[in-house]
Amino acid sequence: MLTKSAALKVVPEVAAPVPRAPANAPAAEAVAPARTLLLNASLEPLCVVTLHRAVLLMMSGKARVLESSGLTLHSEHDEVPVPVVISLTRYVHVPVRRPVPPTRRTVLQRDQHRCAYCGAGADTVDHVHPRSRGGRHEWTNVVAACVRCNHRKADRLLHEIGWELGFTPRAPRWSFAFGPAGSRLDPAWSAYVPA
Ligand SMILES: [Zn+2]
Repeated sequence: MLTKSAALKVVPEVAAPVPRAPANAPAAEAVAPARTLLLNASLEPLCVVTLHRAVLLMMSGKARVLESSGLTLHSEHDEVPVPVVISLTRYVHVPVRRPVPPTRRTVLQRDQHRCAYCGAGADTVDHVHPRSRGGRHEWTNVVAACVRCNHRKADRLLHEIGWELGFTPRAPRWSFAFGPAGSRLDPAWSAYVPA
C-alpha cells in the first residue's frame, strides 16, 4: 500500500522511545496502543502501522498526530504523544487498492478464528459450497472452520446435513486492516474509518 512511496522510508537506526506513563497512570506497556491508524494527508485511512513505525514517521516529520492515547513517549531528546491515529503531512497517491484475497490467514482473521458452524476455535477454511461440487474460492463462499466441523462436513452441502450459517460471508470491508500489524479495529479509530 505504501510501497510506491519512497518518501515514506524512514531512517531505521532511529530507535523508538520507550513509553512512559504519567505518575498515577497504569503501566504504559499495558495501555499504550501497539498499532496506529495511518491516514493520508487527505484523512483517508491508508493502513495500520506498528507503534514503532508510527513514532518513526512522526519523529521524521512525515506524519502528525490526530489522536493520542494521552500517554507520552520519552527518549533522550524527544517527547512525543503515544499516537492512536496519525496522518501523513504530505499526500501520497495510492493508485489502486487491490482487494484482499481470501487466504487461510485473511479468512481466519475476518471470522476472528471462530468456527462458522460450532463457534469453537478455528484453524481451517471451509468452502461452504464445496469446490468439488462447483463452489468457488471467493469471500462469499469461505468461512473459518474447526478441523472437526470441516472434516464432518466434508464435501456436502449445508442443507444435506442440516447445518446452517449464522452469518452471510462477505469480503472484508477493510483491506488495510490486514496489514502486518494486525486486524482488529480500535474503537478510537472509528471517527476516521468509513462505516
Ligand atoms: Zn466447528
